[in-house]
Amino acid sequence: MPMMKAVTFRDFGGPDMLQATEVQRPEPGPSDVLVKIHAAGICYHDVLSRAGKIPRDKPGQILGHEIAGEIAAVGSDVSPERIGERVVIYQRLSCGTCRYCLGGRHDLCRNSRVLGENGGGGYAEFTCVPARNTIAIPDGLDMTTAALAVCPIGTCVRATLGVAQAGPSDKVLITGAGGGLGLHQIQVAKSVKAHVIAVTSSEEKVDIIKQAGADDVIISPDLKFSKDVWRLTEKQGVDIVLENVVTGTFGESLRSTAQNAIVVVLGNIGTQPVAVDPGLVIVRRIRIAGSGNATYADVHRALHLLSIGAVKPFIGQVLRFPEVGQGHALMEQKAVVGRVVLNGW
Ligand SMILES: [Zn+2]
Ligand SMILES: [Zn+2]
Repeated sequence: MPMMKAVTFRDFGGPDMLQATEVQRPEPGPSDVLVKIHAAGICYHDVLSRAGKIPRDKPGQILGHEIAGEIAAVGSDVSPERIGERVVIYQRLSCGTCRYCLGGRHDLCRNSRVLGENGGGGYAEFTCVPARNTIAIPDGLDMTTAALAVCPIGTCVRATLGVAQAGPSDKVLITGAGGGLGLHQIQVAKSVKAHVIAVTSSEEKVDIIKQAGADDVIISPDLKFSKDVWRLTEKQGVDIVLENVVTGTFGESLRSTAQNAIVVVLGNIGTQPVAVDPGLVIVRRIRIAGSGNATYADVHRALHLLSIGAVKPFIGQVLRFPEVGQGHALMEQKAVVGRVVLNGW
């Protein structure tokens, strides 16, 4: 049996649990492709998995679901012409046959699992996935950047363009704007020429938020930002709120809205219920909507935005695969601004 290099963890615990090792290389089934992995993003989800904080996880698996690579071999039902194709991997292994999958909403499939949760993830030389999970990378887009298309950028495309359907006439308020989601949502909203008002509690984040393209930045250490939003919008309010924080901000976000606005909930910082003023929701006809991972259509759009340079991901560190433990430590200690991506052995 051919072997491959991989990083696994023998038990739940700290970043030092992640060890480079050799494991059996997976073999593609009839409808699968074998992907040689060139780059893999480290997601905070991986950090939680390794620490044993995600239910159903088991130690010993290969983590990582943000993968860019090249098709190295195909199963008997897949065209051999695909060998050599540069691809990203849609990170949910969904059933493909339920009403959500058939409607193009693979993100809603109830019979799906995230790549890497039960092994087969990105911290390895190769992975095997169904051929339908691979999406071609546009020419000229490098692997390190492409690895971020599906999870971080795709999630921002889903919220901004999918759920909120932002367009040129919209004013978009983004809470937690200096965080990983916020900085990329700013760029996605600017790609359709929306007007972006960014909120941050930290003055140190202002430069990077402006660099991402925000039109206005509100520094609000006490999180009382709705008065500033009212002033900046000439008492009209915003059409869209991308709520990355929710805890301590949700009431102010609702108060910042225009008539018929949509408030997209992505954050769950405090993991606690928050208060809602039903009168305000009714009078302003506010729509409150949850948002999660990308659809295939969102991933195509994310790849396009990356390839034309409309979205430039904030990459804080590129490490080699065996250094993944160091990447986890940097993220846990918040010692890196932007994403950490693995590339090369
Ligand atoms: Zn991710
Ligand atoms: Zn399904």
